[in-house]
Amino acid sequence: MPAGVIDGKALAERIRGEIAQEVRELGEIGLATVLVGDDPASDIYIRLKHKAAAEVGINARDIRLASQTTEAELLEQVARLNADESIDGLLVQLPLPDHIDEARVIRALDPVKDVDGLHPLNFGQLVLGRPTHVGATPVGVMRLLEENGVELEGARAVVVGRSDIVGKPAALLLLHANATVTVCHSRTRDLGAVTREADVLVVAVGRTAVIGPDDVREGATVIDVGMNRGDEGVVGDVDPGAAERAGLITPVPGGVGPMTIAMLLASAVKAAKYRRGILAFPGG
Ligand code: NDP
Repeated sequence: MPAGVIDGKALAERIRGEIAQEVRELGEIGLATVLVGDDPASDIYIRLKHKAAAEVGINARDIRLASQTTEAELLEQVARLNADESIDGLLVQLPLPDHIDEARVIRALDPVKDVDGLHPLNFGQLVLGRPTHVGATPVGVMRLLEENGVELEGARAVVVGRSDIVGKPAALLLLHANATVTVCHSRTRDLGAVTREADVLVVAVGRTAVIGPDDVREGATVIDVGMNRGDEGVVGDVDPGAAERAGLITPVPGGVGPMTIAMLLASAVKAAKYRRGILAFPGG
């Protein structure tokens, strides 16, 4: 039986409406994004983020730096934004050019403003099960599961991909939701044998059809995070034929993508709450 399709676009729209209300109640909220270089995909993501921020009334500042910007210059920019009282949330769009040490830049972010949840303090809090800022994509994945009534307690969850931005935090959130979690990656032997065990399958690889129809268990919930740009527009990591076996599946586009944007806005609101003392930030 073909799967039910999870409508991430509609849910994201509803969440954005709720966020707009919160922004009205909280007053001015500032979000700064820093993009180094002119990577076309990064440019698209930044534009989408700014459009969505403007729609909910968040003041977003779009800082663009030339690709030859030095690490020291970027660190200075980050320090200025850390110190800027009008900025609640701050993100540096990844990937950075090769000559810049990403880890050092991430460590330089004020953790309270780190809306992508990549600073070691925020990542550590997630590992410890006391999440502060967590990346928008994994949070969006969890919200999609929750809103669609997917049982996680005791479920077998398989995450394909172990990046810091998606796979790893998604696996930790699923673990904290009491799923039994397996994480797969490029060295995993017989990937299909592992993914076929999954009640909940989250795929974040960046390669089309890495999961075929036969790799999905009958009735499983499949969350396709992949966004691969080709001649036919954006496609996911999961072969569309998997919808014949899955119970629920996210479309690409229109699944995780819109949720990522919505949850980034939610993260900016959270940062504003931390900064105003409405929420307590550990050690803050
Ligand atoms: P990364 O390239 O950082 O990570 C990819 C992961 O996939 C790695 O852990 C890698 O393993 C693993 N992998 C690669 N090939 C295979 C394979 N053949 N079998 C199993 N695992 C494999 O990507 P991201 O996590 O940043 O992004 C993943 C995808 O999600 C991309 O398509 C990206 O565009 C998309 N994305 C979508 C978002 C959205 O809002 N919808 C947001 C963020 C990302 P190893 O660690 O061993 O190298």
